[in-house]
Amino acid sequence: MKYGLWKTFITQIKRINEAKLSGTYLLYFVNAIVSGLIPVISVFFIKIIVDEITISNSIEQFIWKMLILILLSALCLVLKSIFEGILAGNFFTLRQKEFERVIRLYYSTKYDNIEDSLFQDTMESATKAVDGDDRGFQKTYTNFKLILNSLFSIILFSIILANFHIALVFVCLFSTIISIIINKKIADYHKKRQKDLGHAYRQKQYYNQTTSDFAYGKDIRIFSLKEFIMKKYQDKSLSYIKVLSDLLNKEFKYGLFGLITLLIQDSVAYILVIYSAIQKQITLSEVTLYISSIVTFTTILRTLSDNMIDLIKNLKLTIGYFDFLDSTNLEEKLAFYNADYHEGVSIEFRNVWFKYPNTEKYVLKDLNFKINAKEKIAIVGTNGAGKTTIVKLICGLFEPTRGQIFINGIDLKTLDKKDYQKLISTVFQDYDIYALSILENVGGIKYDRQKAISCIENVGLKETIESLPKGYDTNLLKVIDEQGIDLSGGQKQKLAIARALYKNGGIVILDEPTSALDALAEASIYQQFAGLVENKTAIYISHRLSSTKFCDRILFFNQNGLQEEGSHEDLMNQKQEYYHMFMVQGKYYQEREDEDENN
Ligand code: ADP
Repeated sequence: MKYGLWKTFITQIKRINEAKLSGTYLLYFVNAIVSGLIPVISVFFIKIIVDEITISNSIEQFIWKMLILILLSALCLVLKSIFEGILAGNFFTLRQKEFERVIRLYYSTKYDNIEDSLFQDTMESATKAVDGDDRGFQKTYTNFKLILNSLFSIILFSIILANFHIALVFVCLFSTIISIIINKKIADYHKKRQKDLGHAYRQKQYYNQTTSDFAYGKDIRIFSLKEFIMKKYQDKSLSYIKVLSDLLNKEFKYGLFGLITLLIQDSVAYILVIYSAIQKQITLSEVTLYISSIVTFTTILRTLSDNMIDLIKNLKLTIGYFDFLDSTNLEEKLAFYNADYHEGVSIEFRNVWFKYPNTEKYVLKDLNFKINAKEKIAIVGTNGAGKTTIVKLICGLFEPTRGQIFINGIDLKTLDKKDYQKLISTVFQDYDIYALSILENVGGIKYDRQKAISCIENVGLKETIESLPKGYDTNLLKVIDEQGIDLSGGQKQKLAIARALYKNGGIVILDEPTSALDALAEASIYQQFAGLVENKTAIYISHRLSSTKFCDRILFFNQNGLQEEGSHEDLMNQKQEYYHMFMVQGKYYQEREDEDENN
């Protein structure tokens, strides 16, 4: 069911229980009592002082009364600040929990969403409701608190005023309702004309900029545009002023009506009070009590209406957030498939078609190939041919739009992604390191020290790391830890490879993580890596053909899909696109190397 204002409010209240913060209800209640009492005590202060002046009670009695009121008022203020402090902490905790919810959702949603710009935009606007304490989710709790405080004061003042004349309560209520309606009308009119105002302003600004920007100076002279631009500027300025004055006129008219209602309310109230005083039905101190009660009562009524409007605004913002949480599709939890991968993992693409979500163009069209268990395969070709896309499909991050991928003969669609992904070690092009220790970067939070060190040794980082004061336990990223270190591009890349080695999955994939290196360095890293993953199915992606010629088999792709397949020697003998590209690239890289040597 879609969220509405009421459902959103109820969900927020339920969140208090879920977070085990039920004490919040009691705090809301007691805070409303102490906060609601404060303005009531203030009006009694004045009454007692005037009583003392006019009736001249005993000074002792006066002091006692004042003392009691002062103590009561101080107690309320202290309690209010304590309760509000605790409440603010609870509201913050509730919002933090929502943030955790968003992070969990982000990591468990289908990967399609992560690369989908539409999803990213929706997420960004939906989470605006929880990314600040002054709006949306958290502000709703604050609004609710303020509403309860006002309601309690309103009840007390209604009793005081009704005690004098019930008509007073109704007059105040009536004038507040009128003022709410007027404010709403003004806000609606503002909203309605906001678009016109923005439009007129942009047009005026455009011509304003054109007349004062030197860049237009030449054209305006050569093409005699001066008169035209000036005329346009004057027209647009007038249109802007017209919309603005419409707005102000409307505001003035409504405002005048509001003022008249307020005058009527005040006149009725004061006439009633003064008449009763003249008739000696009430004392002078009661006159001050009722007049200050009327003023405070109407002020609280208006605050209540402002808070109600604000509550609705914040609930509306939160509706989008709850809708987003409910409608985001999560990765399906499929039954665990206990396949035996010890004998190696084979991968087969059968009639695979693929296009990215919300796009029209197929990146892969009817793709067929098979990688045998423990085979070393190179996927090479031109930029944009779809090599990384194939890796994402093998990793189970996306599903084919049509066709199937088989892992050891089992359709990948039927495998639980979390279980399956335990099988894969990939170094993507955009790998990164984390603000954790070096060992944690390689082996995760619960790492096996010896195993992680041996992986670091295998990628050739042993000496560099052992020379650091804290060695393998050095924290990375200086921004987070002042004693931490930052790594060079090449070192980061080696660490990412060590991470893939540590994971020791049945399928290892290197997706051009070496783009920062030259062709020779890349070839050496690829070959070195091949030695380390001898018993695994390994896939090497590159657009540099020389890096992967050692592989058992090469799949050559261009914009039209898979073009050639075979060993390096086979493809060279065929003398087709692979051969030509190899020769051209060889020449290119040779020239680069010669240049480097000469420099
Ligand atoms: P390669 O790795 O061979 O350079 P890719 O697999 O990265 O090629 O990209 C293949 C095509 O898919 C390119 O045209 C690219 O623009 C497009 N593409 C890649 N990622 C996305 C995405 N997330 N959304 C839409 N199109 C994408």
